[in-house]
Amino acid sequence: MGYEEMWRDLLPIGRVSGGGHRRYSWTAADRECRAWFAEEAGRRGLTLEEDRNGNLFAWWDVPGERRDAVLTGSHLDSVPDGGAFDGPLGVVSALAAIDLLRERGVTPARPLGVAVFAEEEGARFGVACLGSRLLTGAIDPVRARGLRDADGVTWADAMAADGRDPEAIGPDPDLLTGIGCFVELHVEQGRALEVPVGVASAIWPHGRWRFDFTGQGNHAGTTLLRDRRDPMLPFAHTILAARDAAARHEAVATMGKVHVTPNGVNAIPSLVRAWLDTRAPDDAAVRATVAEIRAAAEKVAGEHGVEVALAEESYTQVVDFHAGLRDRLAATLGGAPVLPTGAGHDAGILSAHVPTAMLFVRNPTGVSHAPEEHAETGDCLAGVEALAAVLEDLLTR
Ligand SMILES: [Zn+2]
Repeated sequence: MGYEEMWRDLLPIGRVSGGGHRRYSWTAADRECRAWFAEEAGRRGLTLEEDRNGNLFAWWDVPGERRDAVLTGSHLDSVPDGGAFDGPLGVVSALAAIDLLRERGVTPARPLGVAVFAEEEGARFGVACLGSRLLTGAIDPVRARGLRDADGVTWADAMAADGRDPEAIGPDPDLLTGIGCFVELHVEQGRALEVPVGVASAIWPHGRWRFDFTGQGNHAGTTLLRDRRDPMLPFAHTILAARDAAARHEAVATMGKVHVTPNGVNAIPSLVRAWLDTRAPDDAAVRATVAEIRAAAEKVAGEHGVEVALAEESYTQVVDFHAGLRDRLAATLGGAPVLPTGAGHDAGILSAHVPTAMLFVRNPTGVSHAPEEHAETGDCLAGVEALAAVLEDLLTR
């Protein structure tokens, strides 16, 4: 099974009519993805193991203890109507890279593992990178067990329904200490890469904030303009202020989710609750961007007699990948470009514990988290070659 055959087998799993994928944790599509991975691992004689947190590992072991292992891989779950490449490209490329290494007669001096991390997108239970967070202890298992999907099903119940023991989840230091380094290959998610393959430098710091604009609900016909306390007006201003502030700080800021109360055509709203996502190359730029947006919101809210409250729902600091590993990858690939990303990854979670690096494969349109997400086959094959070269270097020296 070469790269293209594996891709062909995996593509229909969880595919919906619009062409995107819904591969949510502990659903039928997830089971099919796991079965596909088990079959490919078995075909290669790799040892398949699942940890206590639902993460899968296929091992190419060497004699003796499993330590100082080189880990690669990514995830197979998707966002709602997600593209085919985000996650699966890293898993398929890892298996194809093993084939190349074997064709070339490479004898590893260290074990090699291919990981499939669970619930990377957080699409079903709301916390991104849940599998790697559990493994590394970045999330309390009690909190993880209680996470609910849109139907109110908890992570614990969903796991148990699929035959796992939710009481066993949590940090796995034994597994983690056996890993010497992690290299995740991933499709690039913007248009920052102009050659087929690049190396990641960092993951931008990012956060989510909730705005509550509270005014006075009232009649859309009888309330004179001067008597209104309409929270929609400062909200509208805040959206534009977010765009301007982001541009000033070379950040990105997005308001993509809003709840309006009561959400009636003929009613002035009483409450507008909206979420802001902000990311930038460094913490200071994120903080400055959000501070400016907040100041703009408060100023205009005051002019309209509207109260505004801002709550930080999450914040993730910058992840700088391991400099030595990053430089080693770039050198192995003959001076591949090194670039940061605004997207989160399991590699960002692992990097707090083991030397971690990422390879990116070019995304010609920059579209991601959408059915149109695409990478050219030639670029994907270049990614397999690059990963094989990097793994050979790490495994044999
Ligand atoms: Zn991903």
